[in-house]
Amino acid sequence: MIAKKFLIRYNELKEKSERFSMRFGQGCGCRGRFKECGLKWTQTRQAIVDILSSKEGHLSAEEIFFEVKKILPGIGLATVYRTLELLTDLGIVREFDFKDGRARYEFIAGKETIEHYHLVCRVCGKIIDYEVDTTKDKDPIFEFKNVLSEKFRFSIERSDIQFFGLCEKCKSLVEK
Ligand SMILES: [Zn+2]
Ligand SMILES: [Zn+2]
Repeated sequence: MIAKKFLIRYNELKEKSERFSMRFGQGCGCRGRFKECGLKWTQTRQAIVDILSSKEGHLSAEEIFFEVKKILPGIGLATVYRTLELLTDLGIVREFDFKDGRARYEFIAGKETIEHYHLVCRVCGKIIDYEVDTTKDKDPIFEFKNVLSEKFRFSIERSDIQFFGLCEKCKSLVEK
């Protein structure tokens, strides 16, 4: 029962995201893409997309909530969570877990050919983005994914690769 429900939801989302990705890179904003997917564009969605696309880094739902409240004071945290879930389902936003007890979100619309990895400092929590455009540059991890796909006949749709360790600053403090 659950599996069937999940499958329906998966197919719905897949269809939405396919329709959605067809529009990628054609100069239309998220608003137009929402319409393509038969979804309403709301003030809340606009505000959250604006915040995520303008701010660098990896924001938690609480941080996003704090920022949205400045624009839409009446908004609730639950609405922010629901909106983030929808944006994630549509591939506009990606959710990351950096093992610090809270999910973090990053704006990824228009970055389909970009491989994106993270280096996470286990002491200060600094997150370093490593990005490579695989249509322009070679990337060993991207190539490794192709090897895995072939070997296991597995179609990789997404991956979440993180490296944990010490950043330059924390490393120098430890060495002192
Ligand atoms: Zn550090
Ligand atoms: Zn990142």
